[in-house]
Amino acid sequence: MLKSLFIEAYPSFPSFALAARAAVDFTAAMTRPDGRQNDQLRPISFVPHVAPYATGSVLVSFGDTRVICSASIEEDVPRWMRAQRVEGGWLTAEYSMLPYSTLERKSRDISRGKLDGRSSEIQRLIGRALRACVDLKKVGQRTIWIDCDVLQADGGTRTASITGGCVAMAIALNKLMAEGKLKTFPLKKLVAAVSAGVYQGVPVLDLNYPEDKAASVDFNVVMTETLEFVEIQGSGEEAVFSSDEMTAMLELSRKGVSEIISLQKAAILSADRAGPLDLASLTAAFGKR
Ligand code: UDP
Repeated sequence: MLKSLFIEAYPSFPSFALAARAAVDFTAAMTRPDGRQNDQLRPISFVPHVAPYATGSVLVSFGDTRVICSASIEEDVPRWMRAQRVEGGWLTAEYSMLPYSTLERKSRDISRGKLDGRSSEIQRLIGRALRACVDLKKVGQRTIWIDCDVLQADGGTRTASITGGCVAMAIALNKLMAEGKLKTFPLKKLVAAVSAGVYQGVPVLDLNYPEDKAASVDFNVVMTETLEFVEIQGSGEEAVFSSDEMTAMLELSRKGVSEIISLQKAAILSADRAGPLDLASLTAAFGKR
């Protein structure tokens, strides 16, 4: 019944729906606020060991978005795991924006008495993304805490958190291996994330805040180093999107993630050689424009 009403209303469906939008032009000329190509990432950098008391830490920058990511190991598992006799360890994540990370000061959750709904959604996403790449049985009876604190927000803080969280975790797991606390390396694959969206009618990679605010469609894509999807969050902001546009955003994300994974690998390797906090590289990361 519903189907026939729909066909009455739109007799030429599906050609009506297909004709309504032009094919996606990947090469369309459009000037991004920071002058990047449509498929270009912002400058991405990793400064390891920014929080020396964490088992692993990194300051990740995607352009002006900067997040401190740490991995701390607790030699215990949540009560529900013990009660249900679940083998292995656990990984959980917390996300927050520092009050001075936004243009207008954002109150701390503690002073408002409850966790922001957005932060709660983001920290669950970070936890899911990182659990996908670690073999928790090999972690042993431990909890890996991933803390992501946004130092400066300019769009894409959740994707930067996942990307940096994975690096912090790899550094921490390397340390546990070196200390002889783990028999086999529990990290199965690296995981990275990036955003893509439709800005001024054109699919673009890695949106900064001005783009994110104006975009009609916003995707956050989490992938492994072998380019399998872990999670995709995508929504039209008071708008709709075609499957061509979706394919274009996923293609852009694949390209972005494969570039980010190479940078993550280099950061993890360099972290193994670096001493504790390297002030020179921290200054360089802040000075980068
Ligand atoms: N933002 C902000 N204050 C907030 C939430 C977001 O200034 O309370 C800005 C910030 O620049 C953030 C951007 O809006 O990066 C986009 O936020 P969104 O919720 O889409 O998450 P994100 O893109 O950071 O993962």
